[in-house]
Amino acid sequence: MHGFSYKNGSLYCEDVDLATLATEYGTPLYVYSAGTILDHYRRLDAALAGVNHEVAYAVKANSNLSVLRLLANEGAGFDIVSGGELYRVIKAGGDPAHCTFAGVGKTRDEIVYALEQGIYSFNVESEEELRYLNEVAGELGVIAPAAVRVNPNVDAHTHKYISTGKSENKFGVDFGAIAGLYERAAAEMPNIRMRGLQMHIGSQLTSIAPFIEAVEKVAPLARELKERHGIEFWSIGGGIGIIYKGSLESGSVEWWESQTDEERPLTTVRYGAELVPRLKELGLKILVEPGRFIVGNAGVLLTRCLFEKKGAAKTFKIVDAGMNDLIRPALYEGHHEIVPLKQPATDARVTVDVVGPICESGDFFCQNRELPDFQPGDTVALMSAGAYGFVMASNYNSRPLPAEILVEGSTSTVVRKRQSLDDLIDGEL
Ligand SMILES: *Cc1c(COP(=O)(O)O)cnc(C)c1O
Repeated sequence: MHGFSYKNGSLYCEDVDLATLATEYGTPLYVYSAGTILDHYRRLDAALAGVNHEVAYAVKANSNLSVLRLLANEGAGFDIVSGGELYRVIKAGGDPAHCTFAGVGKTRDEIVYALEQGIYSFNVESEEELRYLNEVAGELGVIAPAAVRVNPNVDAHTHKYISTGKSENKFGVDFGAIAGLYERAAAEMPNIRMRGLQMHIGSQLTSIAPFIEAVEKVAPLARELKERHGIEFWSIGGGIGIIYKGSLESGSVEWWESQTDEERPLTTVRYGAELVPRLKELGLKILVEPGRFIVGNAGVLLTRCLFEKKGAAKTFKIVDAGMNDLIRPALYEGHHEIVPLKQPATDARVTVDVVGPICESGDFFCQNRELPDFQPGDTVALMSAGAYGFVMASNYNSRPLPAEILVEGSTSTVVRKRQSLDDLIDGEL
């Protein structure tokens, strides 16, 4: 499911009328559906039921404390990429013993903090980092649990900015160099305990084939590391893609999973059915690190149309959200459906660019798209904005960050208040 649909001509999130929220809290406004987040988490958890596993939510996709708390209460683990994310997880009631720490550039302060909190594993991306981790752990007199990220050199067939599993990407250690590194860790790094193996080949994967290819390629290595070094887990990463294009209906996981295999290259059911049999016989604990899949379709960004500007070549709908609020279209050609809160009375469409107020030509949400002819004063929803939305927002152009609302049934809660002008200059001289 996802929690967004028209009821009596108005777009709702679960049982809450989005127009009411826009009026009450202003725009731009992020709104998340708790039911959708939980549904996605449970679907993936169920799909992996056949193997000892843990779903470690990738915090970077949406790190609001209330979102983290929802998932912590469900028993999720967390994949973090900074000390700040670990701090958030702890504040939200998450358990550090279920946190894995990824990223190519961890600082000393971050390593010390994570060691003190007792995280499950450092997912290390180079020999240099592993040696540094050994050194810092030694100074603290503790043993650091670690896994190395293997770069399996498979093509994820996704946008080049979010592909991570090819040799030319900065991520991970070359497949062929892994076994030697685990040997050196055992021989030369007394403050490291090699606890697992990790990989993550990219984001927004919409086909099962690259996952199968990577799992088949790396499984023998995982088996060998288990036998020689006693590793206990293999994290196969995140990256499950979501549906960005299409009607309101086709954005729902329920609809997607009801389609035939040819029409739906990747679903949780398919993911589990293809991967669980390939993973089960290894006898390892399998971690998955989904971010976008859990929260992407669970959020929208509401924005109000300020003006319609008819240029010589184009018509621009100017809205009050900008690339500082949602950067995906500018950063990697991300697509967001644009849906008026008031259900259009006809199928009539106009060809427009929807743009924000920022002083950049890259500040657009769509170009030359056929949309219902919404007018100044109308509010629209930028769909599928729950992942890599608010977390990438900035104060560029000195615009205060938008508020975030969490909807649960007929209840809506402000889970982050809108920044004020004073917040904007807080800490400056
Ligand atoms: C970003 C990231 C994820 C999550 O990716 P999604 O595409 O959002 O599922 C998981 N693991 C690692 C190491 C990451 O960097």
